[in-house]
Amino acid sequence: MKIVLSETLSYCFGVRKTLELTQQLLADRPDRTYYMLGEIVHNEHVIEALRAKGLRIVQTLDAVPAGGVVILQSHGSTRRRYDELAARGLEFVDATCPMVRIIHDRIRAVEAQGRVPVVIGQVGHEEVRGIVGQVARALVVKSPDEVTPELFAGVSRAGVVAQSTFIEEQARQIVERIRALVPDVVFHDTICQPTKTRQREVETHTRKADCVIVIGSQHSANTRHLFNIARAINPQTHLIDRPESVEDIAIPPDAAVFVASGASTPMELIVEVVRRLESRGASQPRKDGAA
Ligand code: SF4
Repeated sequence: MKIVLSETLSYCFGVRKTLELTQQLLADRPDRTYYMLGEIVHNEHVIEALRAKGLRIVQTLDAVPAGGVVILQSHGSTRRRYDELAARGLEFVDATCPMVRIIHDRIRAVEAQGRVPVVIGQVGHEEVRGIVGQVARALVVKSPDEVTPELFAGVSRAGVVAQSTFIEEQARQIVERIRALVPDVVFHDTICQPTKTRQREVETHTRKADCVIVIGSQHSANTRHLFNIARAINPQTHLIDRPESVEDIAIPPDAAVFVASGASTPMELIVEVVRRLESRGASQPRKDGAA
């Protein structure tokens, strides 16, 4: 068995920055209590370690008492959330990824130009909620099939942005469909570069692999996208979020296994998956298919 590792593994820089900032705050100011809305990474060990250092994970601002400091995560927040923080007099640290800020700027500019804002992304995803929450009203679509004449009835000018982790090819198809219905469309390609790099690597290396293992959570949009890209090319693609699950994958002894990960997958988890593959006879992993 031969393992080929994706060149881009574990956290993207936005998630890493938020994690490092949180760890720094917890270490520097043990006298303060920090609150985070939702989990920063989908991994119980990382979350437990942060909790042990004092981080409180809550679902709403109602759970944050006066004096608490809120850490806003990399995926960004609605304008309403900032208003709510101000109204409650809560201090906050804003770890919104600079690339998500660009999406916020773009969609506000679209609205200011009198265009109908359109977001390509998953309804209800935190990042999409944050983007939509920058403007008074926006249409959200996640597939070409959702771009219907009914949805776009009366729209003559539209400005389109995309969730940072969306699949490039699907976004292109969606924009094409919108252009067939709306006379004047501007598309701002806001899929972030780290996402594009990961998706392209997965596409390239899946073609050369007998088996693909994507490590990350089912709840992580970017991980699911990587899985879907790979599986469309190679049905022998598996998504796992626990190292033990690799034992359930039947891999022929001479197979080439490509290993990729989502942008919020801790490196420890990847290392453990590789260790388990090695214990099944895999040779030392190589990065990115180098000969
Ligand atoms: S996926 Fe891209 S936009 Fe989102 S946090 Fe990571 S680097 Fe930032």
